[in-house]
Amino acid sequence: MAEPTVGPQQRRSTRQVRVGNVTIGSSAPIVVQSMTNTATSEVESTVRQVLALARAGSELVRLTVNDEAAARAVPEIRERLVRAGCRVPLVGDFHYNGHQLLREYPACAEALDKWRINPGNVGQGEKRDRRFAEIVELACRYDKPVRIGVNWGSLDPAVLARLMDENARRERPWSAGAVMREALVTSALESAALAERYGLPGDRIVLSAKVSSVQDLIAVYRTLAQRCDYPLHLGLTEAGMGSKGIVASTAALAVLLQEGIGDTIRVSLTPAPGGDRTEEVVVAQQILQTMGLRAFTPMVTACPGCGRTTSSFFQELAESTQSYVRARMPEWRERYDGVEQLTLAVMGCVVNGPGESKHAHIGISLPGTGEAPAAPVFVDGQKVATLRGPDLAAQFHAMIEAYVAR
Ligand code: SF4
Repeated sequence: MAEPTVGPQQRRSTRQVRVGNVTIGSSAPIVVQSMTNTATSEVESTVRQVLALARAGSELVRLTVNDEAAARAVPEIRERLVRAGCRVPLVGDFHYNGHQLLREYPACAEALDKWRINPGNVGQGEKRDRRFAEIVELACRYDKPVRIGVNWGSLDPAVLARLMDENARRERPWSAGAVMREALVTSALESAALAERYGLPGDRIVLSAKVSSVQDLIAVYRTLAQRCDYPLHLGLTEAGMGSKGIVASTAALAVLLQEGIGDTIRVSLTPAPGGDRTEEVVVAQQILQTMGLRAFTPMVTACPGCGRTTSSFFQELAESTQSYVRARMPEWRERYDGVEQLTLAVMGCVVNGPGESKHAHIGISLPGTGEAPAAPVFVDGQKVATLRGPDLAAQFHAMIEAYVAR
């Protein structure tokens, strides 16, 4: 009998697109990206947020360029980031007036590493064609890649109307949802073909087609993946807040990533008022890492705890260990190649504790109800020590530190 296989399907083969110092597509690592929510014209707060997102691990950061003040601010934002040692590629998000801003603010056009345009928000009829052609011509002149990002909240009405007409002539008309999905795909592909016709090389084009429903997103991207070889940016748009947003994004992205579809991802979470924007970066990284597609930071495996755990110390140790690792990562990453692959386990009792700990590089099994007050530590599957006492957490973290250094 052949060995059962495990893991994602082979990545879809695509053209590769260079965005600043990052490559998107085919064998390049799946890129994590995010977007600021500051007014781009407010340089100070935007720079602060880009730095926070980049430090959290965002490999591309998009910012809206919605008016002249924003376009004027972009070069200064770029300059301040460089002064702060941050080279994260910046993506400008353009709607309605992108042609005008890119034409009138060459320093902005130049400072951005990629432009995102939404074919549904360029205009209608002849005006649309003229504006689209102008943006493409400018992208060629500045040698910038472009993401053609359609969104079903702003779907090109001309494409939708045409497909609805075609559908009405079908012997068996499709459902409204199917027409809508086809319109999204058609809008993205026709816009990409038009951009190439106007001179933009195919390896300067990334596509996305975002919707807010998990099943629609999966269906749309499967179709897109079949019909083109442009790299695809995945994201569930308007995913929502808190656990709902995280679960919906994970459900949609995981299915597609497992099928080898997706070259860059964004998890679009609505932060709580005053909440941390970097959460979406951490969630995106965790999706990729838990699926075994990339590794960013050592992850702690911990059991949920149950009536056999004697105190909250077990949860505290799991949390303090994850925090310890995150805090040490900047230095470790500089010094120890591959440290992000490290696996750790913090377990609550003898039932699964030793077994799970042996599967990790370093694991600890805390004593549950009725067990002797001692915590065996396993390193590379072997029991190497038994910890006890009030400074047990510090002892365990010291063992992790020694392991990493070794
Ligand atoms: Fe409960 Fe022990 Fe299982 Fe943790 S390992 S969930 S404490 S039985």
